[in-house]
Amino acid sequence: AMASAESIQKQIGQDSVLPLAGCAIAVKDNVHVHGWGLTCGSKILEGYRALFDAGAVKFLRDAGAVFIGRTNMDEFGMGSSTEHSAYGRTLHPIDPSLVAGGSSGGSAVAVATGAAHAALGSDTGGSVRQPAAFNGLVGLKPTYGSVSRYGLAAFASSFDQIGVIARCVEDAEAVFDVVAQPDDRDATCTGHQPPDFIRPLEKTRIAVAAECFSPSVQPEVAAAVQRAAAVLSKIRRVEKLSLPYMRLSTAVNYTIANAEAATNLARYDGMRYGNAAANHSTYAEMLTANRSSGFGREVRRRILLGTSILLDADGRGLLAKARETRLSITRQFESFFKEYDLLLTPTTPTTAFPAGQKKHDPVEMYLSDLFTTPANVTGYPAINVPFGKDEGGRPIGVQLMAQPHHEQLLFQAARLLEKSV
Ligand code: GLN
Repeated sequence: AMASAESIQKQIGQDSVLPLAGCAIAVKDNVHVHGWGLTCGSKILEGYRALFDAGAVKFLRDAGAVFIGRTNMDEFGMGSSTEHSAYGRTLHPIDPSLVAGGSSGGSAVAVATGAAHAALGSDTGGSVRQPAAFNGLVGLKPTYGSVSRYGLAAFASSFDQIGVIARCVEDAEAVFDVVAQPDDRDATCTGHQPPDFIRPLEKTRIAVAAECFSPSVQPEVAAAVQRAAAVLSKIRRVEKLSLPYMRLSTAVNYTIANAEAATNLARYDGMRYGNAAANHSTYAEMLTANRSSGFGREVRRRILLGTSILLDADGRGLLAKARETRLSITRQFESFFKEYDLLLTPTTPTTAFPAGQKKHDPVEMYLSDLFTTPANVTGYPAINVPFGKDEGGRPIGVQLMAQPHHEQLLFQAARLLEKSV
């Protein structure tokens, strides 16, 4: 899709082509695009206009991309189905009774329906990879710090990362190459730092996580992982091994993310940010009125949970435990990646589920992030690759995870899987 934009540019007689000349990019509603509204899927930001471009948006603009529109999302990125948006839910293109995935559900649907060549999303616990999986698209969560968070409305700053949704690996790579640049407006942003050495694909050591074959994983998804392992085993034997800490990632992610979100969302008080309700005599009254009516149910739930997690007087409570566990998980992955180069898992335990099924069962909803949260907890990069469909014709995605800044390896292996289907 992207190559055609390039050939058009050539036909009209320009020799030097901008890498993304004419590419239509859709942008999640939490990433600033100069002059556009920005709601984060929330009523509290209705009418807010972005006064500047986010870092990633600026790099795309400089590369010739064209921004075609905003995409719907779970409010402040909190959700796995795009049912928690103040502006209505996003429908799945193949069956409107299904969810599109979330929280970047709108971005995925914009690409799946052909409205955009590619889209930006944000991934705090899986929000780029999960909707990509549900829609048969490629979704990349880059290494933490490789893409600027300047102009991304913060949800949980130690996990948030802007990612790319595209129809094929090549397109995702083209967009990643443009957005993964250093940006001194985000102190954690280094841009892409290609490692000195990447093991050639035929020598790549690959493992599949034994946890993928647990009963909570839809059998067709587990079977797709087996088939993906078989494809990859043509380059080298794929080992099966267990990473016992992996299953703690979702609890750790939600504990720390809620605490960070409670802090980050404190700015929406109707004075600094957010719409102010009129006629209140005290700040406290105004704050209560604005936040109670401006935030949706799931966001209020997270703020309450996060606030109680932060009320950790002796520093030995849940937050401290979650941080310690985060370190243990990261150590386990570090030692895993001393022996292996790639980890293969499902992206999601199931394919797209019916709307309404998990909306009122937050824990069930959170568990859709079982396999995606490890990459956010560790900061490592991971990619969703579409890999077949289930009996109902719903796309299945498999996930590859690698060491920091080994995106090139992810793309190579993902292409191999892509070619085989
Ligand atoms: N589904 C997760 C949540 O609800 C992750 C969201 C995300 O990555 N933004 O928090």
